Amino acid sequence: MSRPVIITVAITGSVPRKKDNPAVPISPAEQIESTHEAFEAGASLLHIHVRDADESSSSNATKFAEVQAGVKTHCPGIIIQFSTGARGRDAEQRASALHLRPDMASLCTGTVNFPNIIYMNPVDLIESLATAMIEYEIKPEIEVFDLSMLYAAQNFMERGLLKAPLHVQFVMGIKNAMPARREALEFMVRELNGLMPDATWTGAGIGREQLVLNRWSAELGGHIRTGLEDNVRRDRDHLARNNAELVELAIEVCHEYDCRPATPAEAREVLSLPPAA
Ligand code: ZN
Repeated sequence: MSRPVIITVAITGSVPRKKDNPAVPISPAEQIESTHEAFEAGASLLHIHVRDADESSSSNATKFAEVQAGVKTHCPGIIIQFSTGARGRDAEQRASALHLRPDMASLCTGTVNFPNIIYMNPVDLIESLATAMIEYEIKPEIEVFDLSMLYAAQNFMERGLLKAPLHVQFVMGIKNAMPARREALEFMVRELNGLMPDATWTGAGIGREQLVLNRWSAELGGHIRTGLEDNVRRDRDHLARNNAELVELAIEVCHEYDCRPATPAEAREVLSLPPAA
């Protein structure tokens, strides 16, 4: 039987603006609608950042709550993951919405250079975010922008700050961080399987590498991330019509590798999350 693959849709992010693609959803109402379209197309996990009205990154818990409530109503069972990422946000605000108890939250286990900023994740901040996630029973998604972050996750797990089974996301194609190199991904997957045999993983590619990582992830036994956060184009010459169109492209890739999109219930089982309430 074909393998169920979790399709994550990262609908907004902190970087793309309407001027890059008018389909980038900014207001909570737009975000709920865009998620609904992606859900209907086959996405089973939503990764969410919120924005202020001027499109800048926000830590406004009220907005996170609004999107969470709307998505729960319109996309039954979908896994909701909040970003704790930093771009445009103060460090002390990055946990601001965790008390809303999303199913998951992103957690980056190290510091790395991005194109124009340092993505700062000092150990004490990682510890405080991980502790809050344990308190609120949120499963982290470990963001690996650099190889050291994989070993750091292992280290935090040994200290009891992260609980098995981990879910890890390998992010490739960010300038100054990891390029999209097949050998590098294969190496990291081997290391993950050796160190944490029960862990699951997703591959994320930025810009034109999105579809490349969709492909490699389907082929190598991982899960898939797509969405306008990472890539605003359908192909070189066309902007993506919406998040759902990128989900459809990812599902075409799944079928090439004898995979199919996981239902929300299957996705929850794969990630050892409780069934939807
Ligand atoms: Zn994000």
